[in-house]
Amino acid sequence: MVPQEGDRMATQALYRRWRPQTFDDVIGQDHVTQTLRNALATGRVAHAYLFTGPRGTGKTSVARILAKAVNCLAPEEQRPCNECRICRGMSDGSHLDLIEIDAASNTGVDDVRDLRDKINFSPNEARQKVYVIDEVHMLSNAAFNALLKTLEEPPAHALFVLATTEPHKIPETIRSRCQRFDFRRVSLQDIIGKLQRICEAEGVTAEPAALEAIARAATGSLRDSESLLDQLLAFTEDTITLEQVQALLGTVSGEAVATLVDHLIDRDTAAGLALINATVDAGADPRQFTRQLLEYLRGLLLLQAGDRGLVNVTDATLERMQAQVQRLPAPRLLKIIRCFAEADFDLKISAQPQLPLELAFVEMTLDATGQAPAREIPHPAFDTGTKKRSAGEPSPSPGRVAETRPRPAPVPKSANVAGKQPDVPADDEGEEPATHGEEGEAVPGPAGGSGAIDISMVKANWDELLTAIRPHSRMVEALLKDCIPIAAEENVVTLGFFYPFHRERVEEPKNKSLVTAMMERVLGTRVQVQCVMVDRSTAAQEVQKRRPKDKYQQAAEDPVIQAAVEKFGARIAGIESHPVAPEEERE
Ligand SMILES: [Zn+2]
Repeated sequence: MVPQEGDRMATQALYRRWRPQTFDDVIGQDHVTQTLRNALATGRVAHAYLFTGPRGTGKTSVARILAKAVNCLAPEEQRPCNECRICRGMSDGSHLDLIEIDAASNTGVDDVRDLRDKINFSPNEARQKVYVIDEVHMLSNAAFNALLKTLEEPPAHALFVLATTEPHKIPETIRSRCQRFDFRRVSLQDIIGKLQRICEAEGVTAEPAALEAIARAATGSLRDSESLLDQLLAFTEDTITLEQVQALLGTVSGEAVATLVDHLIDRDTAAGLALINATVDAGADPRQFTRQLLEYLRGLLLLQAGDRGLVNVTDATLERMQAQVQRLPAPRLLKIIRCFAEADFDLKISAQPQLPLELAFVEMTLDATGQAPAREIPHPAFDTGTKKRSAGEPSPSPGRVAETRPRPAPVPKSANVAGKQPDVPADDEGEEPATHGEEGEAVPGPAGGSGAIDISMVKANWDELLTAIRPHSRMVEALLKDCIPIAAEENVVTLGFFYPFHRERVEEPKNKSLVTAMMERVLGTRVQVQCVMVDRSTAAQEVQKRRPKDKYQQAAEDPVIQAAVEKFGARIAGIESHPVAPEEERE
């Protein structure tokens, strides 16, 4: 295919210049073009067609080619010739017998109303007047009525092509009067092939990975891929690189996504978090990252189901994915997909876009016992003043946790319900905060004004604190949801923030006194609140730290225990978990 009108190349958009001009030029829609060619050859062209399918798949381009083919002056087997007067006029949109209406525009409705009045006029020059109505689902009811009346008794000289991305919005009365063609998303390989031809013709080279990234981002829309390439050509001297594409799209390299999945399989928490951080620091959008990861995981799922055909990737990637599928049992893969799908949802509402992705990753690298085996979870950059665990010591275990967040954690079979105050561990100083609240250990409640508090009490009462703050300020509540209580010493409670903006808001005198007052109420003792910045990798620890509290809460919500608390003034002193048989963790 040769671009049209070379002299205008510099100013015309790439997708217009490379618009297919013959049925052979159309990519990935052979089922449509072959049927139309047959209809033309046998003289059985219908009076009305409905072209449906995603944007940028060639609907209006095929409509134009059809318009030219039915009117071309060349011998039948050469139509459309793209050289005769009519072909050229219809190609550049100047021919009076090709009427293109954009139903999404303001004038579209009027144009359709005019149809009924003008439809009976014969073509000016062509054999048939061709009406192409794009985005036809946007028409008003009145316009649909006008169109229907026209379609009910179409004059012999009229040919209608209705194009839409949303066929279900078109009245059945109209659909039933059209011959329908469903355009498909163009395959990755086909898009890459077309982009390659364009690059060659434009005299630029492109890294194969760059073209693949463009094609992937276009999700089956040839026009979108060409628009992206157009933007890249604008600031490319001679070679289009993957880096440029990623910078333009905010996307993550396929390599990074595949490597992250390797880390997931290996349960390599540290390497995975480092990769996420490096990728986001390099400018990738965490939402985009999560979506690409989900798309990749979906591919693994399809491969596992033996459905190679539906996995739209290059051969090299396919090979790597197949190796990963071998190492990823189906139940675990399903859990991972659910978890990241949830993270994708959380990303939409999270003030810190990276955190849900990191949390999901850490959660999915923990094994059935809630541990990240073999490797350490990174420490927070902030020094909490507590003794740091040396590399040789075992990781703190928060006990068995449920891996998939939507599923409730295993309900404790028994809880020690005792009518006494909890024992506050005496040897608290110098201990790693995360070791508090382990299975069988006491989870302290409010200190009842006795004075000394520790971090585990703050954590155990965190939700109560949020509830207390909510009626006063939803904003402060939201800010606290995005921070981590990291230390409580000498009645100074230290809150860790990920973003300076969050810290500054909480430190505003009005907000800080609210937090302090509510914390004092909940903890039953005088406190000071101090706010610090923490490294984002603290998220890794946060997942583990939250577990014991969840267990405590669950026990507190148990109706039997609630009754005991009410009747006997009992307190939950500790929780013994009877592990549930790991029926979902067959690996
Ligand atoms: Zn022609």
